[in-house]
Amino acid sequence: MTKSKYLILGGGMVAGYAAKEMVEQGLKAGELSIISADNAIPYERPPLSKGFLAGKEEEKQIRINPEDFYREHGIDLKLGVQVEGVDVAKKVLRLQSGDEASFEKLVIATGAAVKTLDIRGANLSGIHYLRSLDDSKRIRAHADGAKRAVVAGSGFIAMEVASVLAQKGIDTTMIVRDQRIWAKIFTPAMSHSFENYFAARGVQFIKQAEVKEARGQSALTSVVLNDQRSIECDLMVAGIGVRPVTDVVAKSGIEVGDGVVVNEYLETGVPGVYAAGDAASYQDTLFDKRRRVEHWDNAVSQGQHCARALLGERTPFVHVPYFFSDVFDLSYELWGDMTGADEVVELGDLASTSFSVWWLKQQRLVAAFTMNRPDEERNAAPQWIESLPVDTQRVRPRGRQAHRSRGDTVGSAILARQGWCQPRRGHSRGAQEHQENAGVAAIGPIRPGRCLCVRERAATGRGSETFPTSRPRCADHDPR
Ligand SMILES: Cc1cc2nc3c(=O)[nH]c(=O)nc-3n(C[C@H](O)[C@H](O)[C@H](O)COP(=O)(O)OP(=O)(O)OC[C@H]3O[C@@H](n4cnc5c(N)ncnc54)[C@H](O)[C@@H]3O)c2cc1C
Repeated sequence: MTKSKYLILGGGMVAGYAAKEMVEQGLKAGELSIISADNAIPYERPPLSKGFLAGKEEEKQIRINPEDFYREHGIDLKLGVQVEGVDVAKKVLRLQSGDEASFEKLVIATGAAVKTLDIRGANLSGIHYLRSLDDSKRIRAHADGAKRAVVAGSGFIAMEVASVLAQKGIDTTMIVRDQRIWAKIFTPAMSHSFENYFAARGVQFIKQAEVKEARGQSALTSVVLNDQRSIECDLMVAGIGVRPVTDVVAKSGIEVGDGVVVNEYLETGVPGVYAAGDAASYQDTLFDKRRRVEHWDNAVSQGQHCARALLGERTPFVHVPYFFSDVFDLSYELWGDMTGADEVVELGDLASTSFSVWWLKQQRLVAAFTMNRPDEERNAAPQWIESLPVDTQRVRPRGRQAHRSRGDTVGSAILARQGWCQPRRGHSRGAQEHQENAGVAAIGPIRPGRCLCVRERAATGRGSETFPTSRPRCADHDPR
């Protein structure tokens, strides 16, 4: 039996960032163990459907910490080890090998597993799902010789994969179950905007359709849809959602709902046992609801939070949910939770690549989407969601109620209330534009424009310095 003071079950993003944080907080050698079923050193998952899949990044570049980090800091990183169960009374993990690993404090960070297609022909080669580094390597290798691809699903992973495959010159068709892409999150106008952008770059859509069968001898040659249409393809990637991995705690007495149930301290009902990341269902005190988030920032922030909790800090996890995605040359971000929103305000031109969308519920800003918008909007989004009940009655315009002008008026007023200037377009560029905008809203401090590239996220604390993708987005960063 191996013994550890602190143990992390799962060697994904939570583990990588928790280890990093613990080292920064003074972890002593020999105190922390990480047990992971994955064979790879903890890595960033976002590049798996972006730069790594595109062949622009390699394994070494997407590691959360360098290979030597774990050895140098005396962290026992056990890879390729499957945990079968947790015994909270004995404080041990039962391993598939029959061995046990004991702990004083535990973080359950088992992540999520992809949902798979239950169809005839599901085992043909050429059908892929994307969760791990190995999955991404397989798709990348297969894509090299592929001519026609089908992407089942229309959420962010499906959209990212479709954009990478199309950029590789593969004839790509997205099979969308709803009437429009990512209907769960996007407004109709947003879906429409992204669909146009994708279509202009060669991606085809078949909507209100599902893959019902895969055909081929041993390798995939076509898929059949529910309306019997047949689509020729030699590669299919299904991005149809994930489910939290909780089977490992099933008989432990730890409560499981939609994920491992934890309180606002990320602690389960068993003192000293925490859960974080995609696997954790936590009490969100900002929105006063139970929530499970399947995104990068949540894994990073909860990993860091649990690290501090293991070391003795006791503070609630108070966090505005955040998400980002990159498709083609676009990068967008989303904060908050639009569930139950009763008003949507759109700023900018949704036919362009620069717009933002603001969701309000009972006059409170609950969610915001921004793409290529001024820094003021981007910075304001999480702050307002966290703190500000926005008074829409005050800012609702009189007279002509064209949607666009209404949105812009609301936006101007929102920004004015904050004492910020609202630039009319793209990135603000200093004094001259500041002058130009003087009539639009109250004048406030205007800062140089920033772009949405990942390096920028790192600089603003919304990313990691080791995050590998750095695709400049604006003239500030782009030398062209
Ligand atoms: C392809 C892809 C692209 C993404 N892109 C974005 C993006 O652009 N923006 C964004 O915000 N989010 C993105 N995400 C989501 C983000 O990566 C996840 O939210 C994050 O990885 C969750 O971290 P985690 O540590 O909870 O789980 P994971 O990173 O999945 O790690 C879970 C770990 O637990 C291990 N494990 C599970 N069960 C056991 C067991 N029984 N025994 C031992 N080990 C076990 C696994 O092997 C794995 O190492 C993306 C995810 C994927 C898959």
